[in-house]
Amino acid sequence: MSEIHETTLELDLNALGHNYRYIKSKLNPETAIMGVVKAGGYGSDSVEIARELDTLGVEYLAVAYTREGVELRDHDIQTPIMVLHPLPHHFKTIIDRCLEPSLYSFETLKDFVAQARKMKQKRYPVHLKFNTGLNRLGFQQDDLSEIKALIVSEPSIEVRSVFSHLAATEDKNQRHFTLEQIEQFEQMANYLESSLPNAPRRHILNTSGVLNYPQSQFDMVRCGIGLYGFGNDPEFDQNFKPVASLKTIISQIHHLKPGESVGYNRGYVADKPTRSATLPLGHADGIFRAFGQGKGWVTIGGEKAPILGNVCMDMIMVDVSNINCETGDTVIVFGENPNLVQLAESIDTIPYELLTAISGRVIRKLVRN
Ligand SMILES: *Cc1c(COP(=O)(O)O)cnc(C)c1O
Repeated sequence: MSEIHETTLELDLNALGHNYRYIKSKLNPETAIMGVVKAGGYGSDSVEIARELDTLGVEYLAVAYTREGVELRDHDIQTPIMVLHPLPHHFKTIIDRCLEPSLYSFETLKDFVAQARKMKQKRYPVHLKFNTGLNRLGFQQDDLSEIKALIVSEPSIEVRSVFSHLAATEDKNQRHFTLEQIEQFEQMANYLESSLPNAPRRHILNTSGVLNYPQSQFDMVRCGIGLYGFGNDPEFDQNFKPVASLKTIISQIHHLKPGESVGYNRGYVADKPTRSATLPLGHADGIFRAFGQGKGWVTIGGEKAPILGNVCMDMIMVDVSNINCETGDTVIVFGENPNLVQLAESIDTIPYELLTAISGRVIRKLVRN
């Protein structure tokens, strides 16, 4: 096992490769994969993940915001990058940095065309997003004839893909709704395509979509969480390998007598002789305060050490009364055990939120296990 000297998020690029190949095994050979690296690669390291995904063979990358795409370009990533949620203020940057916008409203479409014309672009690649029931971003079915009129003979842009996003791919009770979304998407895509000079790629599935609706993979799928090692379902989780493991060390050990307390507001009061270990990470690193009072735990020497009292900004204290350990020992905050799915359940959230909460203060280290 690698030596840890401070709080470190280890990123296992071999696990990423495993997850990529697992997703690929669910797809037809000609279906493209768009690797979603928004939010710093789901809290990991978007540049390193993008590089590895590029090596593995993804056709596209996706980020949420323009600045995230700029960061990838600044690090010489040359894969096509779709910006899922661009704001008109950034359209010049998008063109300057060869990013491809998802256009989701008349306003974004018109503004982008104006910017593309101004910069004398010919057939600049864009993507059109359809709203089929998530009601977040996207054109409505009723908008299509007007969109058609706007883009059909517009030389400054080319529609490279049309897509939609499903609301509940991981929820088997929403199968009927999901199939309706897919049906509506197909109708909208057919209608628009009939008037375009080219055949744009179609895509609608995220990770859980690939796992539960592989028949609707169309030309491309957009995968995030699966690449990082989670399948949103205990049945699927076992096929993936978590990329990120958060590790730290023990900074200090205290011996508490009954009646002595630990941390702010005396969040824990010992009712028996207790050994507590102080760890150098807290809510400013992404360990939510909700994990306090024993809801969260870490693993030291293979043993479970529950969090004592309240999570501080820069520290947590854990109960090591029954664990043979000393200052400097390695602590697993999450990884194989505890795994993020268990931890997320303990405070009623999802792995997505815990992963993306790991702050920039935590160093990232690439490994190949
Ligand atoms: C984040 C996102 C994805 C990726 O979803 P996962 O569940 O992480 O696979 C795909 N499409 C859109 C539009 C997204 O916003």
